[in-house]
Amino acid sequence: MKTGNKTKIVATIGPASTAKEVLREMINAGMNICRINFSHGNYDTVTETISNLRELNVEMETYVGILADLQGPKLRIGEVQDKSVELVAGKEVIITTVPAISTAERIYITYPEFPKDVVVGENVLIDDGKLLLKVIASDKDKEVKALVVQGGTLSSRKGVNLPNTKISLPCLTEKDIKDLDFALKNKVEWIGLSFVRSVTDIMDLRQRIKAADSTARIVAKIEKPEALLEIDEIIEATDAVMVARGDLGVELPLEQVPTIQKMLVRKCIQQSRPVIIATQMMESMLTNQSPTRAEVNDVANAVLDGADAVMLSEETSVGKYPVRTVQHMHNIVSYIEAHEKSIYFREHHPELHNITFISDSICYNACVMAKHAGVTAISTMTNSGYTAFKISSHRPKANIFTFTDNPSLLTTLSLVWGVYGFYYDKYESTDDTIQDIQNILRQEGHVIKDDFVINIASTPIKERGRANTLKLSLIE
Ligand code: PGA
Ligand code: MN
Repeated sequence: MKTGNKTKIVATIGPASTAKEVLREMINAGMNICRINFSHGNYDTVTETISNLRELNVEMETYVGILADLQGPKLRIGEVQDKSVELVAGKEVIITTVPAISTAERIYITYPEFPKDVVVGENVLIDDGKLLLKVIASDKDKEVKALVVQGGTLSSRKGVNLPNTKISLPCLTEKDIKDLDFALKNKVEWIGLSFVRSVTDIMDLRQRIKAADSTARIVAKIEKPEALLEIDEIIEATDAVMVARGDLGVELPLEQVPTIQKMLVRKCIQQSRPVIIATQMMESMLTNQSPTRAEVNDVANAVLDGADAVMLSEETSVGKYPVRTVQHMHNIVSYIEAHEKSIYFREHHPELHNITFISDSICYNACVMAKHAGVTAISTMTNSGYTAFKISSHRPKANIFTFTDNPSLLTTLSLVWGVYGFYYDKYESTDDTIQDIQNILRQEGHVIKDDFVINIASTPIKERGRANTLKLSLIE
């Protein structure tokens, strides 16, 4: 087992990176999780990507996991005449739900309920907010009249955002349900849920995952203003969060995104939920060999905020330099982690009244002790991963090693800040196991003589209960 950066890298896989040899280089460069974006691509290429990755995990002895990102209720316009037309500011247009080729006067939207949901005065943003229209009338059936406020080029299949409109579409569309079924059959570790609006969206997905007898976990993508109104409950209900800055920056004024990012990271650390910072992190590397200074700052600041992971989208799925982009990102993360102390030691008190108090307290005190003693490694034995998520949330400087006989947990935990895993299936006695784990860490070069190590376990070991035991030892 090789360790790497504490802040993990999620990279989106697409035509530029499906090939096994590219994936191999991306893993070598520091990729921890592959994201498959179900807005694009087909099942054949996804199947190829997944099998390439699984083969590489065996060949390279790595635990790179998969995040299957469902498209969600993404609204789009249809095909546009001659591929693109110009919308002129000050002119009126009709937005229709009747399928047709769009023109500069009449635009087809793929959302049948649009005239019913929309209210006069609301904004319609097209193509990441490049075009802005204001609703002036709706027949509440098939047509909406709108004024072009900010004009520009309208091209085929661009996304539409309706930041103020209460959209009546469910969070999981028919396409999402098919994609979810496919993803779960392929045993992906994480499911991304787009455009989350409320806790019930997460509960609905959780039920479907359970019904499919899967252990996949949920990444709630925060990209709608509505989600922010019940953000504490959403963070509680989900397993992880993505700060989906692409759509968030269209749905809300752009200048609000940085503070929302910081707020979400802070809350996620408090509630032990991994948080991913996504979109445009290294955008210029789509075509350039190195990032802009602003992009370097953005990645560095995400690490400083305390994110669990930073994400690449088009940069690695369709960009010219997928491997180089991961390398650059890895170098920035490495440098910041080595030189900025403020990332570490974010201990937060366990809640006495939680049923998990005993194990929460063990994890918290392990991290406090690790800080005082300058502990090199904290190891934990877990079946559910609970202690790994908890320990990670305190952001210890010590490496966190998870020992488990559940292989899919190892690939799941690849998303989590600072956590690296070992497959381990000898559950003899606590004495023997702790000694055994220390030997493994020593043999693999993760600790040396005179290092302090903390082992977290559950006694009696055979019952496999919640963590209740902490041992501090000196490596001999
Ligand atoms: P997307 O999500 O790439 O699926 O749109 C991320 C974002 O909106 O930032
Ligand atoms: Mn999005």
